[in-house]
Amino acid sequence: MHPPQLVDAFTDPSTARERLVGAFRHRLEELPSRGSSFFIHLIELCPVACEHCMYSSDLERKSDKVALSKGELEDAIRFISESSSQKLNITGGGEPFLKFSSILRLLETVDVPRIEIVTAGHWAVTPRRTARVMARIDEARSRNPGNPELLLRLSIDRYHLNAPRPVRIEHYGNVLRCWSETGPGFATGLRGIQPDLGTVDRLIAEEMGADVQEVDDWNRLLLLPGGKSVPITFNVFRRSGKALRLTEDHQGATKTLREYYGPFETRPGNLSLATAVNDAIRGEYTASAGLAVTLDSDGTFWIFCGTAPDRKLLLSGQSFAEAVAYFFEDPITHLLVDEGIWALSDLVMDLAPETHAAALAKNDSASLVNDLLAADDVRLAVTLIATQDLVTRNRATVDPGHPLAGILADPAADVTEMCRDLVLGNRGTP
Ligand code: SF4
Repeated sequence: MHPPQLVDAFTDPSTARERLVGAFRHRLEELPSRGSSFFIHLIELCPVACEHCMYSSDLERKSDKVALSKGELEDAIRFISESSSQKLNITGGGEPFLKFSSILRLLETVDVPRIEIVTAGHWAVTPRRTARVMARIDEARSRNPGNPELLLRLSIDRYHLNAPRPVRIEHYGNVLRCWSETGPGFATGLRGIQPDLGTVDRLIAEEMGADVQEVDDWNRLLLLPGGKSVPITFNVFRRSGKALRLTEDHQGATKTLREYYGPFETRPGNLSLATAVNDAIRGEYTASAGLAVTLDSDGTFWIFCGTAPDRKLLLSGQSFAEAVAYFFEDPITHLLVDEGIWALSDLVMDLAPETHAAALAKNDSASLVNDLLAADDVRLAVTLIATQDLVTRNRATVDPGHPLAGILADPAADVTEMCRDLVLGNRGTP
């Protein structure tokens, strides 16, 4: 028999979680006061429309709000600058070059030391147009008083070459030639998927009359004629978004997330992507004391791999400190920041094995936390387990009036076991 107040909580898990978060008080004297990697998605649309797109992006609107407005961009710039993030990633969700004026605005104003722009490169149709676009990027960056370091990163997956509106090898050639010949004040890099190792990179090398040098099993160097070199890194293949409909799954030709991120664990089993600085193009995820944040094109934002799906915020004039304080009201954020995503993954494997298997099968860090915590009862169970852990280690309290305060303060109460019974019972697999 489980305590009735616990059984009662699982009859309406969503409300029970909300009440528990409201009664939870962490004892951290200081919360993180700065950012690590800040990811901004300017628009959810993309003209390339690849068959494997993890964002299911194309030119069809999937929501009422597909891009950040001018005013929202200014608010985002204030927020990013205030976060003192170590790096800004202008990236995914769609093709950022559809909002080229927003890219330029970010480049000339945002106060961060490093910026990375991710693009499919579909805009590099002719050498002339490529030179014009790259010159405008360079000029905007040089107007920024902080003189940020910039990297332009081209995605080079095979699916781009065969997309409804393909990016051609010549497009990559236009960018690399322009970069090599004009010597702008920014770096460039290429990123593909592991199943494409030795194929797309070779085609680009042929186009450029370049050599490919192996660095390790997922990094290469493109050695251009004239002496310059460009890093190429190969990410795992993600079976999420549109890729769920592909017939090929590339199993065996890609590392799993656990294999890929293994070298970046801060201690065995601990991978806190919520705090890392993402430098995938250099083969690094550097631990930091800051927080990684994602700001989506609809204005919502969250700690990357650090926020439960029901705790995302809408950017609306709040300060960075206010947002961080809100996120840390949730015991799940403490779990993800302190113990990392594999701690959450292991808990869900125990509570709801099918949910866990489906989430891991996508091989996608961007969707992992959302998928693991999609179900109300699993979210409540993880909140309860994380709270008991924090309370019994004297790192948090629960208001004494809360019906579960006594159980959550009792180290002898097997909250994990009880939650597992209740969640599995909910699914008809006691
Ligand atoms: S280019 Fe990138 S964002 Fe666009 S459809 Fe392809 S994978 Fe998605």
